[in-house]
Amino acid sequence: MSQLKGKTALVTGSTSGIGLAIAIGLAKQGANIMVNGFGEKDAAIAAIKACGVEVDYHGADMSKPVEIEDLIAQTEKRFGSLDILINNAGIQHTASVEDFPADKWESIIAINLSSAFYTSHHALPGMKRRNWGRIINIASVHGLVGSIQKSAYVAAKHGIVGLTKVTALENAKTGITCNAICPGWVLTPLVQKQVDARAEREGISNEAAKDALVSEKQPSGSFVSPEQLAALAVFLCGPDASEVRGAAWNMDGGWTAQ
Ligand code: NAD
Repeated sequence: MSQLKGKTALVTGSTSGIGLAIAIGLAKQGANIMVNGFGEKDAAIAAIKACGVEVDYHGADMSKPVEIEDLIAQTEKRFGSLDILINNAGIQHTASVEDFPADKWESIIAINLSSAFYTSHHALPGMKRRNWGRIINIASVHGLVGSIQKSAYVAAKHGIVGLTKVTALENAKTGITCNAICPGWVLTPLVQKQVDARAEREGISNEAAKDALVSEKQPSGSFVSPEQLAALAVFLCGPDASEVRGAAWNMDGGWTAQ
């Protein structure tokens, strides 16, 4: 399979979890990959390289607009173009609105929302020149519905769904599409922290905490896998998805159907 051969994809936050799975999924279709994130980058790079594509790494902090500008410039310089932009980097913090630390609010809005504006802002001119591009914003079910204790995350994810619609509309007559993917629970390091906190708070095992977490929101009772999300991203990058524009596509075990 090589439907993305010759394209370059930047996946923010691709050193673990959903971002790494999407990077591997795109690489399996032949796309060269710019990796970003603070996790185990050598392992991530090796896993993507094993797909037979060119890989590079940029350590931009997605909360810093100047570093984001450099990330886009370096990607275009290294590979000659930036065709597929996956805005995936994200963090979480849970607390009620009155207890929410202001610095955590600012970081979540910066990393989970504003970074997608800055990457798109700098990547769109090149995509327009080539009249082809795919921007996929990894939102969440929390871009569609709320949950207690997650004010900053829910605000950022609702915001990124809005940004997705505007970016899609502004480019609707071009070969550039912009869509959001809205996953339910996926067992990644970001969610494992919430499982650990629940196990400790309720004095239950890791397995019991996982079951409790997933079954209270997700009717299927099963986690979504990073590979399933990668397959959706690959579809959205392909020719059959050229008229999918401005969608907020949930893959959530039924969470938002309730
Ligand atoms: P993860 O913790 O495995 O991955 C997050 C990635 O972002 C890592 O590579 C991390 O190093 C990177 N990152 C964090 N802060 C960064 C920064 N300042 N600059 C650059 N990179 C940074 O988590 P994940 O679950 O794979 O999350 C990926 C995305 O999916 C996030 O946007 C998250 O909100 C979203 N999401 C996750 C779930 C879930 O259940 N896991 C559900 C819905 C949406």
